[in-house]
Amino acid sequence: MRELGKIDGETVSVALAVPLRSVYDYYTGNYGRLARGTIISVPLGRRFVNGIVLGPGSDSVPRHKLRPIQTVAQLEPLAPGFMDFLEKMSSWTLTPFGSVVKMALSQSDAVPTPPMLTIYRQVIPQPDIARITKSRGRVFELMQKAGSLSAPEIQKLAGVSASVIKTMTKQGLLEETKIQLAMTAARANLARPGPKLTDEQRHAASVICQSIGNGFAAFLLDGVTGSGKTETYIEAVSWALAAGQQVLILLPEIALSTSWKNRFIARFGVPPIEWHSDVGTATKRRAWLAVQRGEAQVVVGARSALFLPFANLGLIIVDEEHDHGFKQEEQTIYQARDMAVLRASQEACPIILASATPSLESWVNAGMTGEKQRYRRLVLSNRVMAAVLPEISAIDLRAMPPERGRWLAPPLIKALQSRLDAGEQSLLFLNRRGYAPLTLCGVCGHQLACPNCDSWMVCHRLAGRLRCHHCGHETELLDKCPVCGESDSMRACGPGVERLAEEVLHRFPDARFAVLSSDTVASPKASQVFVESVIDGEVDIIIGTQMAAKGHHFPNLTLVGVVDADLGLAGGDLRAAERTFQMLVQVAGRAGRESRPGAAILQTLNPENPVIRALLNGDRDKFLANEVAARQAAGMPPFGRLAAIILSAPDKEKLRVAADLLAQAAPRFAGVDVFGPTAAPLSFLRGRHRARMLVRAEKSVDIQQVIQSWIKDLKVPTSVRLYVDIDPYSFL
Ligand code: ADP
Ligand code: ZN
Ligand code: ZN
Repeated sequence: MRELGKIDGETVSVALAVPLRSVYDYYTGNYGRLARGTIISVPLGRRFVNGIVLGPGSDSVPRHKLRPIQTVAQLEPLAPGFMDFLEKMSSWTLTPFGSVVKMALSQSDAVPTPPMLTIYRQVIPQPDIARITKSRGRVFELMQKAGSLSAPEIQKLAGVSASVIKTMTKQGLLEETKIQLAMTAARANLARPGPKLTDEQRHAASVICQSIGNGFAAFLLDGVTGSGKTETYIEAVSWALAAGQQVLILLPEIALSTSWKNRFIARFGVPPIEWHSDVGTATKRRAWLAVQRGEAQVVVGARSALFLPFANLGLIIVDEEHDHGFKQEEQTIYQARDMAVLRASQEACPIILASATPSLESWVNAGMTGEKQRYRRLVLSNRVMAAVLPEISAIDLRAMPPERGRWLAPPLIKALQSRLDAGEQSLLFLNRRGYAPLTLCGVCGHQLACPNCDSWMVCHRLAGRLRCHHCGHETELLDKCPVCGESDSMRACGPGVERLAEEVLHRFPDARFAVLSSDTVASPKASQVFVESVIDGEVDIIIGTQMAAKGHHFPNLTLVGVVDADLGLAGGDLRAAERTFQMLVQVAGRAGRESRPGAAILQTLNPENPVIRALLNGDRDKFLANEVAARQAAGMPPFGRLAAIILSAPDKEKLRVAADLLAQAAPRFAGVDVFGPTAAPLSFLRGRHRARMLVRAEKSVDIQQVIQSWIKDLKVPTSVRLYVDIDPYSFL
């Protein structure tokens, strides 16, 4: 092999950033010895892909048959703790290791790293779409989303040739700039004082701060809404930074947490580095490098920020740890909160899970049910500065129904009026986007359904569209029934936030209202504008979906009206009650956060439901105890283990064959129950039919091992996709 180069090459085993379970051997040639964690580019078929060196090759293929690696990135190898995390994450979630590697290398397209990069930006904000070619249209569309990109990225993502970019630049449609690749982040100012902490806050903060630099420790920061949890963990952030460490903060909905960011800036004088889907590619790449070089001090992000290669991670915070937004349901399926705990243990650093309504899992882990205590619980029992928790009451809709075709019952209308008279703000909460969840024909009864999914088309009247919330399929609103042809026969059924807005306009013609949903407030910028307008008193009534329930601090908001408290309780979802309880506590917690006391009113058809009762009695711990008892009795998580195996295929017959194969191979062990196959609750999604099997096992069973050996040798047709969801949430 000597003739290949001056330095002796070795064989290395490489995990490629492609969704494959296997790893491959390559020959390192001139690059000689490469450490575990080294980022490289290797040939795969006729293209080059990025990968990570795992260790010495397996030598199962003779050396002369191996292909040599292409390049080695000019980057430090990924740290051992991070590598271990990636491997453990893959084996816990049963995700192909390559998919995990792909997330970790998401932004290292520049392998090896050039010191300067030429990027392009769009010059004309609103090009005249009618007058441009298709390929240029694609470039514009891409640039509007991405902000700025390099030429190879534009070529790849817009599917255009280099010459298109060249000509567009020449004609002044695109602008070319050179940027330095690394991000030069300003340092946080640690001399700025925070507010004077309350005794409870100070106690919690000092316990956490003492643990910084002393290995793994997990804390459940359990404090009612507005009790100053954020302020408390910011204190811990300050300590970690003072110790020269990096901090990762995960929020369930980062794109919208404007007020959170403002507080951070007020405290540290600089913004944190953000990591979520709204951040442009070029910015992300620089952030990735800054994180890897240890220059980025604080990263605040969505769940994908867990896969950043921190050089020196000293503290992780998962805010609103109960939030289901942390469960990623697509592609790689994982629960980011749980994986954050795993990451903290691999990095040997503390982690804080903060919530006013802890998840059952964290409650159990905090030793609240007599199981082994894994997390230390720190309690903040009062709101700061004299603010009190809102009074929660219910309206029994059976006794006091709204008018026909309306959704607000008389007592809620009265309460809204009294807030308007007092110059205070109200929030009407309804977790349904659009105008109406269902449109049907009044003559023949035809219901408008999505052609690709087993779901209804949701009417969005403001946008003039019908939309499927599962696959994004859209059509115009129909004025005629597509089946019987009758005109003016289509009727909207049920309310969405837009329809509620109509009712508010009808009831309170002089009130100023605003709809807060992902349709009306779609970007971080729009969110900021929205939040400011509410704080400035430009809005009397907010009509919002779950987006309104999270994190906002509106000082003058004193009434929360929950239009349908029962929504979300139906369905066979294991966590339906828990999730509804959490959401309603959160949304009620928006009321009365400062000097004026707040109230929350729940409209319900079932005031006897344990969830509603617990809310009315303010008895969270009893609610949790009941949930614990029910899960324990059913052997469900966190007392037993649960996993779903989902098969999908465009062809129903092929799916049936594959499902039969899966069922035949099902394991038969003591302590393992297998259910199905049955049609998945969404039996048709994005053009694919879906079947599901559920596995429930005793806690002592290694469910991953059971499933792994079950599906390993299964030969399903190529058009059939199989994926595993460990600890499924949505039962999609
Ligand atoms: P949580 O995260 O528990 O909902 P926050 O940390 O957002 O609570 O605190 C609620 C409000 O009280 C915020 O406006 C915050 O700035 C303020 N606050 C928190 N702690 C203190 C304190 N010790 N002194 C004064 N104001 C505080
Ligand atoms: Zn009809
Ligand atoms: Zn659809």
